[in-house]
Amino acid sequence: MEKDCIQQKSAKQSSADPKNQDFLKSKISEDTIRDCIFCKIIRGEIPCSKVYEDKEFIAFLDIRPINKGHTLIVPKIHCKDLLDFPKSEETDLVEVIKKVANAAVKVTSADGFNVGVNNGKAAGQVVMHAHIHIIPRFDNDGLKSWPNKKISESEMQEVQKKIISFL
Ligand code: AMP
Ligand code: ZN
Repeated sequence: MEKDCIQQKSAKQSSADPKNQDFLKSKISEDTIRDCIFCKIIRGEIPCSKVYEDKEFIAFLDIRPINKGHTLIVPKIHCKDLLDFPKSEETDLVEVIKKVANAAVKVTSADGFNVGVNNGKAAGQVVMHAHIHIIPRFDNDGLKSWPNKKISESEMQEVQKKIISFL
């Protein structure tokens, strides 16, 4: 499988700096990283409403929020989606999600929250640098949950078997 995640050479260097990334290990071009909107934010080239940062992740408010407090958690190394998400060396990503979500919920007095990742254009991914959405939810905020489809029992069994054998 092609390696789509850029590895950092040194934690001290900015991981979003194209010159500091190991292109031999990656199919991602220097241009992709230079032009990537989230890499630009990580390099400090464009502003963001930052709420959290550690060595491996940054979190900032979504510029077009679904609800107040909508926050994005973004790995500092460029990778295109969740399947290419870097293995955290220091950061427990679930703990970061819990920490940021808890803060976003508390300060907005939300009644709940969604955690979402859009993977690929078909799933609605627009920015091709992996990120996790934290979306505070409010009772009667008018947002609709996903609709469901009728899948036959035989199709369910077939896909269940296929997933099990794939794993
Ligand atoms: P996705 O559809 O999962 O790729 O979502 C990308 C998200 O990034 C959208 O919700 C955008 O509003 C958000 N976004 C795009 N550019 C910026 C930016 N410069 N600062 C903050 N959020 C952004
Ligand atoms: Zn990027």
